[in-house]
Amino acid sequence: MTQSMMFWVLKNTALAIQTMNAYRLASAFVLTLLLPLTLLAQQSRPVIVCSTTQVADFARQVVGDRMEVKCVLAAGQDPHLYEKKPGDAQLVSTADLCVENGWHLEGNDWMRKLAAQTGRPIVSCVEGCQPLEVPGVDEAMQDPHAWFSCTNAAIYVRNIRDAVIQLDPHHADEYRSRAALYLDQLRTLHSWILREINHIPVEQRVLVTSHDAFNYFCQAYGLKSATPVGWSTGNEVGAGITPQRRQETIDSIRKHQINAIFVETSVNPTMVREIAREAGVAIGGELYSDSMGAPDTAGETYIGMMRENVITIVQALK
Ligand SMILES: [Zn+2]
Repeated sequence: MTQSMMFWVLKNTALAIQTMNAYRLASAFVLTLLLPLTLLAQQSRPVIVCSTTQVADFARQVVGDRMEVKCVLAAGQDPHLYEKKPGDAQLVSTADLCVENGWHLEGNDWMRKLAAQTGRPIVSCVEGCQPLEVPGVDEAMQDPHAWFSCTNAAIYVRNIRDAVIQLDPHHADEYRSRAALYLDQLRTLHSWILREINHIPVEQRVLVTSHDAFNYFCQAYGLKSATPVGWSTGNEVGAGITPQRRQETIDSIRKHQINAIFVETSVNPTMVREIAREAGVAIGGELYSDSMGAPDTAGETYIGMMRENVITIVQALK
């Protein structure tokens, strides 16, 4: 190797090392710059705090990962009887938007009160649904279990979509696209339920469950409903079992010669089991009513919950 060649090799090696170092430095600089930005982006995602598992699912379908969706109730918890926990106000205080079912599903309006107490905006999903009336103590009440008709579920989704767009108009197209796809899925679900219910003989289309959660479902899909308690599971207006109502339920089961009655995942099954024994019918299975299933179960989404309920009902009554 000549001296000039040696010099050339040394010079280029030095240059290469310098370039690599500069590249490393630049990469490190960019990473240092990006890391806090990424963390910041995660931290600054708007937060939606929901009362029930159903409305939380609807919210997730609309916002994707653009916002963080949290839920006060866990799977299997009863919204009528829920007692506020010390951490709830703290959770709701982080919300950019609160979402409730409404029509007093949340016993004593606990979600609405939490939102008012912490000064957070709240949207009621039932707004715009056509209410079914259920007897209260002095006057008729609006039955809050409106999500059980897919047509109402679509109204819930539109209400959430509109509130989310108001909160973050910059990504409006994105929210509209997600909502449109989900609304298509709800329409498909609606037609599928109608087809499935047709497998049940007309005289067997009577749904007996623990509490009045299925009035909208029965109305939308052509069943009669009979329940031993009123629209709430607790000691609220219109709630509670009376000996008369219990007897009416048993008579109704016998009169219609019903094959099976159902327990609910979020309501104590004892009373329904007693009634089943007394009326001489089988328990047809467990239905998701005021709460969806736990994560990793078939009922963990609204569509999954409705699908599993319909399959359980059709298998037991057909
Ligand atoms: Zn209920």
